[in-house]
Amino acid sequence: MIKKVLILLIIVQSMIAFSQKPAKLYTEINKDTVSYYADNIEIYPVTLSFTGQPELENLRMQMKFETVKALPPLSKKNRVAAFLVTDRKKGWKIKKMPNYYTLAGDATIKAYDADYLYDLPYQKGKSFPVHQGYNGKFSHQNENSLDFTMPEGTEITAAREGKVIDVVQSNNTGCPTVSCANLANYVSVLHSDGTIAQYFHLKQNGVKVKAGDTVNKGDVIALSGNTGWTNGPHLHFVCALPDPSQPKQKKTLKTLFRTGDGTKSEYLSEKKTYLKQY
Ligand SMILES: [Zn+2]
Repeated sequence: MIKKVLILLIIVQSMIAFSQKPAKLYTEINKDTVSYYADNIEIYPVTLSFTGQPELENLRMQMKFETVKALPPLSKKNRVAAFLVTDRKKGWKIKKMPNYYTLAGDATIKAYDADYLYDLPYQKGKSFPVHQGYNGKFSHQNENSLDFTMPEGTEITAAREGKVIDVVQSNNTGCPTVSCANLANYVSVLHSDGTIAQYFHLKQNGVKVKAGDTVNKGDVIALSGNTGWTNGPHLHFVCALPDPSQPKQKKTLKTLFRTGDGTKSEYLSEKKTYLKQY
């Protein structure tokens, strides 16, 4: 009877702790083992980032509890934690499971391809200035992202091949204050090394791909626009890995671009204009 009450308590606890989260977590009890599993319904890896360790009573860890746990795309029953009853005669309890948040992408990746050469994200023969570069003063403080000034409706091409994992294109508003930050249309592309590129401020209904599509480098993926937090039509390009220490931040990365006729490679600089001749 006591055990039944405890089990019920655990189930209620886990429902409270795990509600309103995209990845589904659940428990299973088998004899003396209490297991926590997670399902990832997304087409991209999802990271669970726990804020601490579980607090246990008459239970011990059966496996090391990892506070940062990556779940493969479309995967079921990933074991997140397992506890063993230490003494069958005593009552046992999971006093507390730590809170967690979910991040798009695999935050356990330590090494990515830092030498990969990206293509400028527009068509051959076009030339655009980098209005704001890495760590720019307007909106890129502590952020490795690039703003290319370009007229609305410019064809945006994939800077690197990958899988489209997220598309937003319903917005039609832009303004130069942070209040418009959530109104940007964008495309997110997952690369083979786990990094995710995002192309922001796209034109309403201007996206040419959908989630799940594979894109090749150079494919037209969208039309540029002026949606979200902007002070004029431009493309915001950012490449990043999820940061497990901060729920709403990501580790933004500097990326090398092919420039000129395609034989040169460099990091792009603010106020410089880049003609794509390849
Ligand atoms: Zn920007």
